[in-house]
Amino acid sequence: MYMHGTSKINDKGHLEIGGCDAVDLAKTFGTPLYVMDEALIRRRCREFVDAFRTSGLKFEVAYASKAFCTMAMCRIVEEEGMSLDVVSDGELHTALQAGFPAERIHFHGNNKTPHEIEMALDAKIGCFVVDNFVELHMLNALAGEKRVKAKMLFRITPGVEAHTHEFISTGQIDSKFGFDMGNGAAYRAVEEALKLEHVELLGVHSHIGSQIFEVAGFQAAAEKVVAFAAKVRDELNVTFKVINLGGGFGIRYVEGDTPLPVSDYVGAIVSSVKTEFGRFGYPVPEIWIEPGRSIVGDAGTTLYTVGTFKDIPGVRKYVSVDGGMTDNPRPALYQAQYEGMLANRAGDANEEVVSIAGKCCESGDMLIWDIELPRVSSGDILAVACTGAYNYAMASNYNRIRRPAVVFVKDGQADVVVKRESYDDIVGNDVIPDRMKQVVKSVQQA
Ligand SMILES: *Cc1c(COP(=O)(O)O)cnc(C)c1O
Repeated sequence: MYMHGTSKINDKGHLEIGGCDAVDLAKTFGTPLYVMDEALIRRRCREFVDAFRTSGLKFEVAYASKAFCTMAMCRIVEEEGMSLDVVSDGELHTALQAGFPAERIHFHGNNKTPHEIEMALDAKIGCFVVDNFVELHMLNALAGEKRVKAKMLFRITPGVEAHTHEFISTGQIDSKFGFDMGNGAAYRAVEEALKLEHVELLGVHSHIGSQIFEVAGFQAAAEKVVAFAAKVRDELNVTFKVINLGGGFGIRYVEGDTPLPVSDYVGAIVSSVKTEFGRFGYPVPEIWIEPGRSIVGDAGTTLYTVGTFKDIPGVRKYVSVDGGMTDNPRPALYQAQYEGMLANRAGDANEEVVSIAGKCCESGDMLIWDIELPRVSSGDILAVACTGAYNYAMASNYNRIRRPAVVFVKDGQADVVVKRESYDDIVGNDVIPDRMKQVVKSVQQA
């Protein structure tokens, strides 16, 4: 298993993260357990912020909180001087409860409800990223009722789509998100916004994909967005203050994943926007970006306890752990791949190839196919690496499994930032209607 951040093998032959022995963490907090390497999260934050600082441009690095959103995480983002993207009332509430400065919150999403917009207006968030015409008019009306002017960007689809190694340039993207540049919707949106009294258009936003390893997609998007900005300036006489180029920076989950250093992504974006704006004699606006996965992904490790086995001779050996798709749905959702190791026998040589199964009632509930490990025994602690993004955030209570705890580890100290759910949490929102209570009573009487 690749050792991210402060992960290492200690004198006892155990995996250690943030100066904490993973076997001790499993004993103290139980399993499954999400362990987050706080120093690595902060290092990633600083890599983005520092790369922009050296560029001389005005910028905001907004953490896309959907990747991993808890109050403690919001504190880190604030301390590191970054902004925060939210996409729902729940994420907004989390940020506000954590004391995150509202003016550094950006609200995304293709279907913000009137309630969410009002909540965000009342909190005085910094910016709405408006996705469609319905939302534009709703935002203008609600801001009008409150006698405020809502700052906003338009999400536009520049006709660039990137995934990992390739990007494709398409004429018109078939996407639920944003205003299409190719068919003129983005241009009409700007015209429309200029007529509205209660919105202030700061600029435009584009997000081209996720887990991207190369800079070409970002450069292509920057070119198209800048050309759009120039057209809007020339024809509508509006100069954008902000260009937001989204997130999607790739991370290393398994061997063969080849992300670039953060400074390379930022460097490429900065030099493209400088060049492109330069061509139009356009003053370079503030550049905003929105990393999610690349801030928290490789900082996360999930610890599981190994339970049962099923050895099918000549076919495969299944090793089951005490979690699965409830704490990490990504393999079941999109064949995401992970690496792992036995945290309690980290120094032992690999001896067998097994497949790691979750405990849910779904054949698709597999965490890792064909992983080499030492001979596995019940009670071993399996560590799965790179689970910091879109794991806790996507966790569910399927099979009424309680969601695991999350601990932040740093310099030998482990702090719970999310408690493991209790049985009371599991039934806490259940209600038995009175008539059913009566049925139970009458059965007992009979
Ligand atoms: C999901 C998302 C991000 C973050 O994507 P990552 O792949 O986690 O970096 C940023 N911006 C927008 C608009 C998104 O939808």
